[in-house]
Amino acid sequence: MQILKLGGSVITHKDGYFSANHDLIKNLAFEIAESKVKSLIIVHGAGSFGHPLAKQYSISDGLKYPEQLTGFSKTHQSMILLNRIIVDALLNENIPAFSVCPSSFLLTSGKRLLKIDLRIIKQLLDIGLIPVMYGDAVLDTRQGIAILSGDQLVTRLAIEFGAKRIIFGSDVDGIFTSNPKIDGDAQLIEKLSISNVTAKIGDAINTDVTGGMLGKVSEAEDAVRAGSQVIFLNACKKNRVNAALKGERVMGTILTL
Ligand code: ADP
Repeated sequence: MQILKLGGSVITHKDGYFSANHDLIKNLAFEIAESKVKSLIIVHGAGSFGHPLAKQYSISDGLKYPEQLTGFSKTHQSMILLNRIIVDALLNENIPAFSVCPSSFLLTSGKRLLKIDLRIIKQLLDIGLIPVMYGDAVLDTRQGIAILSGDQLVTRLAIEFGAKRIIFGSDVDGIFTSNPKIDGDAQLIEKLSISNVTAKIGDAINTDVTGGMLGKVSEAEDAVRAGSQVIFLNACKKNRVNAALKGERVMGTILTL
């Protein structure tokens, strides 16, 4: 079983508002179909759908004032909208994709995944469907509400299902020595050991204000320890996702022990 994470930077125009990258989504759906991979879970990010609303209503800080309740629901609705665009694109390629809403089958506690009922996901996989989930506005036992990142969800699913491979698709070629969008001298790290992440991309810890890449690496560490192959690649470039799904060598970063 493989898990494909499609970052918000891939499937949406991050500087827009509710702006999906339809052409790229269509290409990715084609590549996934072409790979003929059957046992797959897809998780996507929020980008310009969920993020602006989650920020506006401070969902991640927990429930503190009543107006957040509509904000919580609006954030969730925005993700349903984006999820529909993605699932429809997959169905167009005859991929048996099935939308699964994370906030209906899991709880967090202090923003960390607590309970997750995997029976539904397992059954979907068993009959040959491809569950398509997303980072979501979720219920939290400590703070009322929270945002669960797609990255955290991916790792938990990989561990629970013993995934062979996790592919993190983003808008850069992998993990660099520093943020490649800011630093022209940033070097791609082809193999990154989880034991020396800080030494290799130490500077990026401070510059990466979104928590983006570093957050993904620290989430993914547990999956590496559990035996999954973890690859970071550029999902905006043609045929990278396709090649990785087929187990071919591809430009990117492999996370190792
Ligand atoms: P996504 O929306 O695809 O899940 P993010 O936008 O949260 O991903 O994170 C990816 C971004 O992280 C890249 O576009 C890049 O600008 C930034 N980044 C920061 N530090 C690094 C680094 N060391 N290597 C690669 N990307 C980095």
